[in-house]
Amino acid sequence: MKVISLIIPCYNEEESFAPLYEKLCSVSQQMNEKYGIGFEFLMVNDGSRDQTLELIRNTAEADDRVKYISFSRNFGKEAAIYAGLQNCTGDYAVVIDADLQHPPDMLPVMYESIVNEGYDCATAYRESRVGEPKIRSFFARSFYKFINRIANVKMTDGATDYSMMTRQVVEAILTMPEYNRFYKGIHSWVGFETKWLPYQNIEREHGTTTWSFFGLFRYSMEGILSFSTAPLVLASLMGILLFLISLMMIGYVVIRTLLFGDPVAGFPTLISVILLIGGVQFFCLGIVGQYISKMYLEIKNRPVYLVKESKLGERRASNAIEPM
Ligand code: UDP
Ligand code: MG
Repeated sequence: MKVISLIIPCYNEEESFAPLYEKLCSVSQQMNEKYGIGFEFLMVNDGSRDQTLELIRNTAEADDRVKYISFSRNFGKEAAIYAGLQNCTGDYAVVIDADLQHPPDMLPVMYESIVNEGYDCATAYRESRVGEPKIRSFFARSFYKFINRIANVKMTDGATDYSMMTRQVVEAILTMPEYNRFYKGIHSWVGFETKWLPYQNIEREHGTTTWSFFGLFRYSMEGILSFSTAPLVLASLMGILLFLISLMMIGYVVIRTLLFGDPVAGFPTLISVILLIGGVQFFCLGIVGQYISKMYLEIKNRPVYLVKESKLGERRASNAIEPM
């Protein structure tokens, strides 16, 4: 029997857990009857500070489709997704949020797109950003416009992490063990045929989102720095531009001095120019610094996450990842 692994990152989701589990059970039951497919629920507890882990443990005891990994602290959703993909055993894997913002009702459609239509991935995207603060939508849209112009991977506006993929795609993603993870970019970078499935944005019913505006800003910088070196080119271009301007100014000053002598004047101009160039230099230095800091973290080669406890099934031999 073929198996779908549902990878569910959970961070302080005690209120969503019961409704989520109930919903997943009913959808998996339907799919089991219709397509004869089995399920594995792989919960990744990302250092929750509430009762999430207890709930997961209890459920795992009662239902042996439920597996879990519990981190030693909060490592972030990216790390949770990575851990899930590394440890899932299914023939297909789905990454799905625990807060029911990713409707499990889409699973059959995703499954059919892959099995009947031959796609490698089926990814949900939000058709509209209804219910989201206007300012957040504006910045999100601008981010996608910007990153698609400068990065060498296509990132779809509204694309979510909610996606079903074949084992082949899972293995492809696992070949990217980078520390600075930007899942949307990684998912797009590996390629393969993706079917885009629209859905309406659903508001979170329980708990609160962990994303602050600043958090999203940092996350988008992560995306830009991980998938584009365009900011470095910008720094070089500004250097060249300033160099050309200064050449012209030198020419102007020399000619003026030869024609009219040298009246000592122009300190304000001098100061302004020094400040301008100093500012641009610091800006460029900052860009270079951003890349160096990413390299620094990458070179340290720290693990993406640490596990405190887990309950995983027997790995199936065909899925075992070769030790390095
Ligand atoms: N999440 C996680 N670790 C974190 C933050 C979030 O595993 O540090 C999980 C969270 O439990 C949820 C999913 O990632 O299942 C999406 O989080 P959230 O709803 O806060 O993000 P949003 O839906 O606003 O993008
Ligand atoms: Mg959410």
